[in-house]
Amino acid sequence: EPRLRGLADHLRERGWTDDELDAAPSSWAVVGSVVLVKPGDSPRPEEVGEALLDLHGEADTVLARGGIDGAHREPDVTFLAGEGDTETVHTEHGTKYALDLAEVMFSPGNEAERVRMGEVVEDGESVLDMFAGIGYFTLPMARAGASVTAVERNPTAFRYLVENAMLNGVSERVTPYRADCRDVIREGLAEGEVDRVVMGYYEAHEYLDSALSALSPGGVVHMHEATPEDLVFERPISRLEAAAADADRATEVLDTRRVKGYSEGVAHVVADARVE
Ligand code: SAM
Repeated sequence: EPRLRGLADHLRERGWTDDELDAAPSSWAVVGSVVLVKPGDSPRPEEVGEALLDLHGEADTVLARGGIDGAHREPDVTFLAGEGDTETVHTEHGTKYALDLAEVMFSPGNEAERVRMGEVVEDGESVLDMFAGIGYFTLPMARAGASVTAVERNPTAFRYLVENAMLNGVSERVTPYRADCRDVIREGLAEGEVDRVVMGYYEAHEYLDSALSALSPGGVVHMHEATPEDLVFERPISRLEAAAADADRATEVLDTRRVKGYSEGVAHVVADARVE
């Protein structure tokens, strides 16, 4: 059964030596019908792509992923092997994410956090997702019964957000805005005061005053951050406390979590706080 064999077996079949195999990637992610891999220093990356297609019969395209750039979080991917169709539908714990991996980001490492957001929310809650993307957190939360105001300013990501709400049958519980989330809050469009605010953006702390102005007393905020290891979790906690103090509100940190490694010495973390 060829699919039971690992990448190294497939590369060895293509004539790779042990030294070359040492430089082959040790991990990759399957997102819908696309395999995402960081080829790093491996020789002949196209062969890595072809071997990954051998390994994952359900996939039809392999992309090399670089970084994710700019305020719109646009991915830098290049074609490695297969049909080259970068648009796909990824299903995760029953939530369907349609997306174009060449145009919008998808972080396989955030899976546990996407799932968690669908679990912490209660049926009927009102939620504001300030940086909704294609619906990473909005969709599991709406599927769990929450009413979500989802704000996304990147037009491509926004298009998928709307499509994904339909695809998951939750359009009536998702109110999407293509806008800057601060404007949506300033204009009072976030259905009065919300029970929960999700801030899935590394610069989220710059938006805490806006977030708190939308949050009802006793509501919960989930703030993401890229934190240097020596400041985990002190910096996100102190930022939350400072923002609450500025707004003259008491706060209680409920939970702190590592989502994934962000880069060498920097962690992607999330802090949950209740704000009175
Ligand atoms: N939470 C996602 C995940 O788990 O993979 C990541 C979302 S992505 C990092 C953040 C999104 O926020 C991007 O799609 C970006 O376009 C959007 N964004 C950034 N600043 C914004 C703002 N001021 N208003 C609305 N959307 C914004």
